[in-house]
Amino acid sequence: RGDSRVADRTVDSVCPYCGVGCQLTYHVKDDAILFVEGREGPSNQNRLCVKGRFGFDYPRHPSRLTTPLIRRPGVAKGLDPDFDPAQPLTHFVEASWDEALDLAAGGLADLKAAHGPDALAGFGSAKCSNEEAWLFQKLVRTGFGSNHVDHCTRLCHASSVAALMECIGSGAVTASFMQALQADVVILTGCNPTVNHPVAATYFKQAARNGTKLIVLDPRGQALDAYAHRSVRFTPGGDVSLYNAMLNVIVSEALYDQTYIDAHTEGFEALKAHVRDLTPEAMSPDCGVEPEQIRELARLYAQAERAMIFWGMGISQHVHGTDNARCLISLALACGQTGRPGTGLHPLRGQNNVQGASDAGLIPMVLPDYQPVGDAQMRSAFEELWNSPLDATPGLTVVEIMNAIAAGTIKGMYILGENPAMSDPDLDHAREALAKLEHLVVQDLFVTETAQFADVILPASSWPEKDGSVTNTNRQVQLGRAAVPLPGEAKPDWWIIQQLANRLGLDWHYTHPREVFDEMKQGMASLDHISWSRLERESSVTYPCPAEDAPGADVVFTDAFPTASGRATFTPTRPLPPDEPIDDDYPTVLITGRQLEHWHTGSMTRRTRVLDDLEPEAVASLAPSELGRLGLSPGETVTIDTRRGSITLKTRADPLMQSGMVFVPFCYLEAAANILTNPALDPFGKIPEFKYAASRLHRAEVA
Ligand code: SF4
Repeated sequence: RGDSRVADRTVDSVCPYCGVGCQLTYHVKDDAILFVEGREGPSNQNRLCVKGRFGFDYPRHPSRLTTPLIRRPGVAKGLDPDFDPAQPLTHFVEASWDEALDLAAGGLADLKAAHGPDALAGFGSAKCSNEEAWLFQKLVRTGFGSNHVDHCTRLCHASSVAALMECIGSGAVTASFMQALQADVVILTGCNPTVNHPVAATYFKQAARNGTKLIVLDPRGQALDAYAHRSVRFTPGGDVSLYNAMLNVIVSEALYDQTYIDAHTEGFEALKAHVRDLTPEAMSPDCGVEPEQIRELARLYAQAERAMIFWGMGISQHVHGTDNARCLISLALACGQTGRPGTGLHPLRGQNNVQGASDAGLIPMVLPDYQPVGDAQMRSAFEELWNSPLDATPGLTVVEIMNAIAAGTIKGMYILGENPAMSDPDLDHAREALAKLEHLVVQDLFVTETAQFADVILPASSWPEKDGSVTNTNRQVQLGRAAVPLPGEAKPDWWIIQQLANRLGLDWHYTHPREVFDEMKQGMASLDHISWSRLERESSVTYPCPAEDAPGADVVFTDAFPTASGRATFTPTRPLPPDEPIDDDYPTVLITGRQLEHWHTGSMTRRTRVLDDLEPEAVASLAPSELGRLGLSPGETVTIDTRRGSITLKTRADPLMQSGMVFVPFCYLEAAANILTNPALDPFGKIPEFKYAASRLHRAEVA
């Protein structure tokens, strides 16, 4: 516990960090959170990880924004590396809400009038509630007049969603991670749950203890290796080769489930023909896994009575991320490993509400519930609901928006809770683009790296200060409740969005998020039989839900898939090399990602005392042999170069790393990993290749 004093009240809510969606209770005294405890949620059963348990004091950080800010006239935009929130602001002046909102909306309206709707774009946030995501995308679509709205799903699972939508007609998981407890075999690939989904990892450990065979497939080692029946480290970027070789074995040894294939799928004959030549022997050089081991993995999965596949951003954050996910879906379909307890496909969602924000339409090519913007019938239904014409052209995605700013076509942005000045690939390019914006409105808790580029900064609400629903990786819609008051003049995010909407000519009159949720239910069939009052009563309801008094479906697609034919589709894939293969000049594979104690760009966790004390500085993790090759001891500093830039940081010996690769977390401004990353995009999911960049390492020069 963070504090032994006695609370005067408790408030039940949900963890604001990862997609596991642990339910928790805030213990509050004198309007301050004393400590947090896990409660009996369906995804956590009282458990919390270090972030959920100790990451609650960021809303009271001294640098918390408590009043609107506007840029001082004449002050150039850019990231100030010496920015110190404890010092008096030099680049911004405090403003009243009316001044700030008038300026924020006026700048956007002027750009729209001068250049048209396509001159504006918005980034919403998976850190916000479903209701806030709904309002944000509605504002962009009806107030800005375009579909240029996106959020961090574009940096995490957009490729998984693209493949799932294409192959099975739904972007969400087919079964919860609790189903692992009923599986005979669980494949964990391209994910590191102990670090990124820690409470989900406890279910995988429990399953392994009960006899489930865990198969961990990843270029890096991880803590779950200790629980694994097989742990296989493949060559970075060799995933499509590995999975195709497994499919080849399943086809050549007739391990597939013909009854399931006949009843539920189409395209298997084409897949069979496609993988005929992709033998383990042919694919082994690409993926670095021995042919006999590939055969064993394929047999383990295909011959299991019940098997599940879980994956993370090691799968999705590649130029072949969609192909990776297509392969995993083909494995499940070929072996009939979906639609029953203990079977399924589960992309472990990253942020606490990335599932809900995507469902609510914070995506440029689809309206809420994944209805294509080009579908006239669906568009017409939303036009009627929102009493506004809608654009039929898919909008630009995160990196495409940055490129459009650089090209001068997008000139104004509204960014809520996202931090592209830290999260985007090739940061120098992204930051140059942000500086080029003629008008930028940022709504956040702090003067983030992105807010330093803003014309107007609007002080927002943190999770413990708001009521709202969020949807976790298991499709569980859960209710968060305000536990503490907003500081100073900070406002609820839904209120701020509405104020901007009305200044842009809309006519909104919401008085509480429950009214927004009621409107969402009119446009989202996925929320059928889930009401705000039910969430207040039950805290969590899984969608799809068949009736008001029935539990939601933990396992879906038991009879049919939500496609036109009711069948799922196999999509064959060909191995593709990384966009930027290593070479003699840049011989080391750079992999970026998160670490246990910090979350996304660190805007919250780096302002959390316990978490930042545990991991206060950026480190590059390297295999001991790699450190030896570089002549470095752990703790000495290394410079990492890529074709886009350089960073210098301390080293850490990590026996879980393979030689020839380096891992760097991306939450540290002082050694921002995304200065190095490659902005090349997966052509389908439009997700950058964060999991592979060619780099070179050398001892840092002593200043
Ligand atoms: Fe929060 Fe995720 Fe940790 Fe649960 S596992 S406490 S949701 S960060």
